[in-house]
Amino acid sequence: MRPKIALAGFQHETNSFSPLPADLPAFEMADSWPPLLRGGAVIPGSCGLNLPIAGFIAAAAPTADLHPILWCAAEPSGPVTHHAFDTICAEILSGLARTRPDALYLDLHGAMITEDHPDGEAELLSRIRAQTGPDLPIVASLDLHANVSDTLTDLTDALTIYRTYPHLDMADAGARAHAALTDILNGQRPAKAFRALPYLIPMHAQFTGAAPAGPLYAALTAHDAPGQWAEFATGFSGGDSPVTGPAILAHAPTQTQADSIADALLARVLAAEDAFDQPLQDPDTAVRLAMASPVGKPVILADVQDNPGGGGSSDTTGLLRAMVSGAAQNALLGVLHDPAAAVAAHQAGVGATLTLGLGGKSGLFGDTPFETPCHVAALSDGSVPYEGDMYGGGTAQIGPTTLLHLTVNGSDIRVLVSSVRNQCLDRAYFRHIGAIPETARLIAVKSTVHYRADFDPIAQATIPVANPGALGCVLEDVPYRHLRKGLRIGPNGPAA
Ligand SMILES: [Zn+2]
Repeated sequence: MRPKIALAGFQHETNSFSPLPADLPAFEMADSWPPLLRGGAVIPGSCGLNLPIAGFIAAAAPTADLHPILWCAAEPSGPVTHHAFDTICAEILSGLARTRPDALYLDLHGAMITEDHPDGEAELLSRIRAQTGPDLPIVASLDLHANVSDTLTDLTDALTIYRTYPHLDMADAGARAHAALTDILNGQRPAKAFRALPYLIPMHAQFTGAAPAGPLYAALTAHDAPGQWAEFATGFSGGDSPVTGPAILAHAPTQTQADSIADALLARVLAAEDAFDQPLQDPDTAVRLAMASPVGKPVILADVQDNPGGGGSSDTTGLLRAMVSGAAQNALLGVLHDPAAAVAAHQAGVGATLTLGLGGKSGLFGDTPFETPCHVAALSDGSVPYEGDMYGGGTAQIGPTTLLHLTVNGSDIRVLVSSVRNQCLDRAYFRHIGAIPETARLIAVKSTVHYRADFDPIAQATIPVANPGALGCVLEDVPYRHLRKGLRIGPNGPAA
């Protein structure tokens, strides 16, 4: 008999140091991902995208009756508002009451903090369990940046977690969640072992295309067997809560097996602590190194701490100022979030020259707008068809957008300015407005790691840069207040 499976998605990565709240409109709007989808709109609205729920649906559709309740996500930012959280939870609960399913799949992030709850996903699950009781099979997929808690582990029957950063396998994590749920529906509920790690890992050091994260994720797959698998969440260090931090989770037919796998993986991650300690370059030196590189392929400067995909405002000006003072040539920068500048450029029109205060409007770290004459090189409506491996097939909506050309101080810099915060993780952002990234000498991206999927293949070198932003990667400088006592703040860092 085909099981009746309810589906819901509610994703947010919460940066406690971002001044921007995640309110209900932030979940309702389209950005890199679709807008809030309800009921019958979930399947067509996610079909073919690299989203966990899309992977789950594709795997489950041949053998199950699917009952989507809702799916939504907001761009990473400050805490989820009380109103948004309660509204979305209530909709999921009423959908479950209506559906009375045999099982539930949840597409969650795992690093949600709300105005009221430091562990948003655990609160959602506790409300669900209060309504459904303990027996309903529930499996969730989580982001690699989940701050997984033992409470969330206890309230679900199994978890799957992305294994790549950049996240190329989000749909696959959904498909693996379906395999886990199928085993449970067949009477095989796995034993679980949870291990919280004792140190935070900076976001820029979590790249799975290199050591140490790459080999650690490869080690997970050695434990894949029928009814058995392990997961590793590197954690989201932008969240300031008692559950912040990396974790390992093993599932196996017996508790002894699960404990043994979790302990083996824990030992490997502990041994990798030194290798996760990776320095950042200062902006002036990074620009100088880029301009001194041989002409040919571009050098990528990653503004890792002002990544909107980690809750950054995407409008800090430090790297832009360094590019101007270093007279960067044939340079691109994106995506700078500045709706007022984008509107002014649209009003002035292509070919106009105007003086703008670019960026700096969030006021973070004392940042101020960078006053400069700009030439309006191009305009767009901000509809960006993705081409890269991570989001290819989807379309970003970044609102009225402009490409501004700056020549101050003898520089030659084109700055991509958007009206909606969006992470520069795909060359299509530049291409869609007529800038060709492959021929640039220097490309500055406001991204921590996701840009690597589409920009590394064209780069001669990549330099992560320490310009101030809301996603602190120099962890001992981050003003944490709520971490669990004893957690090391960074590899070999001081204890909280
Ligand atoms: Zn992530």
